[in-house]
Amino acid sequence: MTRTVEINSLKSLVHSLEDAIEQKDKSQRHLNYIANHDVLTGLRNRYAFKKYIEKYFADDQCQLKYDLKLFLVDLTRFKNINDTLGHDMGDCVLKSVVIKLKDNLPDEVTIYRLGGDEFAVILQDENGASSVSEKMVLDELLDIFKRKYRVKGGRIRIGASIGICSAPKDANSSQELIQRADIAMYEAKRNGRLTEYKYFDSCLERELKEKKIIEQSILDMIQTKDFDVYFQPKLDAITEEITGIEALLRVTDATGQALSAIKVIQVAEENNLIALFGDIVIEKSFQFLRQLKQESEADINLALNISSLQIRDGFIEKIETCLNESGLSFADITFEITESLLIDRPEFVRERLSYLHSKGVGISIDDFGTGYSSLSYLHNYPFGELKIDRSFISEIENNDTKKKIVIGIIQLAHAIDLTVVAEGVETQAQYKFLKSVNCDYVQGHLFYPALPAEQMLEVIKSQSCPPKSISAKSISV
Ligand code: C2E
Ligand code: MG
Ligand code: MG
Repeated sequence: MTRTVEINSLKSLVHSLEDAIEQKDKSQRHLNYIANHDVLTGLRNRYAFKKYIEKYFADDQCQLKYDLKLFLVDLTRFKNINDTLGHDMGDCVLKSVVIKLKDNLPDEVTIYRLGGDEFAVILQDENGASSVSEKMVLDELLDIFKRKYRVKGGRIRIGASIGICSAPKDANSSQELIQRADIAMYEAKRNGRLTEYKYFDSCLERELKEKKIIEQSILDMIQTKDFDVYFQPKLDAITEEITGIEALLRVTDATGQALSAIKVIQVAEENNLIALFGDIVIEKSFQFLRQLKQESEADINLALNISSLQIRDGFIEKIETCLNESGLSFADITFEITESLLIDRPEFVRERLSYLHSKGVGISIDDFGTGYSSLSYLHNYPFGELKIDRSFISEIENNDTKKKIVIGIIQLAHAIDLTVVAEGVETQAQYKFLKSVNCDYVQGHLFYPALPAEQMLEVIKSQSCPPKSISAKSISV
């Protein structure tokens, strides 16, 4: 009897132990699931993604046998949805995207949510012999982001920037693979389209390194204000008298290598540094104009190139302060702007430019002919001057079409009371043609390149000298 009781107690103990072990396994599995999955979408998470890639690179056999294709997918303008429609709607969109990804991508791929609005799709391709190709996955992804999404209360469009990188072709480690797919994805994003893709290539990486160097130079320059602004004269086409100067920045990197002004401006814009940087160009240019006015009798107008992001809240006040500090007036300056500036925030920019124009600031449309050349800009904005882009002037002497375009632009501009400047005049033949078709002003290496401040000062002081197209030849920069 006692023995039976003992056996039963033992059995019950074993059951309890088995239950406990099963419970522990279950908890372990649950913990494991949570560690590897995203709560909102149920997809595998960043941790699982990294583990998978690290395993691939740790196994030489695996690398020999399979190509790993990584698609990094970052939703476009997702932040807008969160900001304007709320986070619940944001979650709803994310879930809808995941359903579309799961329903449409082939079973051979694995989908991960890396965080926020960033996803990864991995295809393990048996050296290009798999039934599913990289192109098929990309086509599906592009198709998914072409469609509209039905969410509570309506349908919205959501796009994606897709960066693609393959191992072992493009990368030798998990870190390299992720970094390079990221580079490709950012390049796709930079294009500004709702949906865009880019394959990684080593040029992208080189460009990114170059941009990092430029970004560092800009940060240094904002701190030290140690960079030059050069000035290129603008001349009356008939009298060859210098009536204005255009400020052009001249920047070198840490090794003293000259950096392209266009690239510097582009990087400053991309990194939200243009306002700070542009303000320093304005301060330096105003200081120079004051010096020029103090040391010469010349009535010279200063033109400044203004980038889209420079025109922001507080911009007008900044200009007013700088003018007051340097004893200059609104009528002493002109802003050169390109069409791209008008596309971004047309109404905001128009209001500011109109105010400045009402105070006497000249407004000039730069590089005319290279953008959309939308004629509506010409009457919607307070332009007083139009600058014909250099590309129309170069080799105009041998190109009848360019001649006709330039004649047309000049006639159009004059008909609506704009003065015309031809940029990049390099030869006497170009100059002669431009004069014959009533171009008002000329700028270019035939007369003067952009000059350092001291040299510019000397040139202005000797304004009374004979024709600049001759004296310019003696200037070396
Ligand atoms: P832009 O405003 O159209 O300036 C004219 C560009 O053509 C300048 O190049 C000038 O040096 C060059 N150039 C002038 N005459 C000739 C010529 O006869 N032949 C040739 N081959 N080139 C000539 P740069 O200085 O490299 O500036 C390029 C662009 O960078 C400028 O085009 C302007 O859009 C931008 N930029 C320059 N400085 C600034 C700045 O301070 N702020 C902003 N936002 N943009 C700037
Ligand atoms: Mg300009
Ligand atoms: Mg220009």
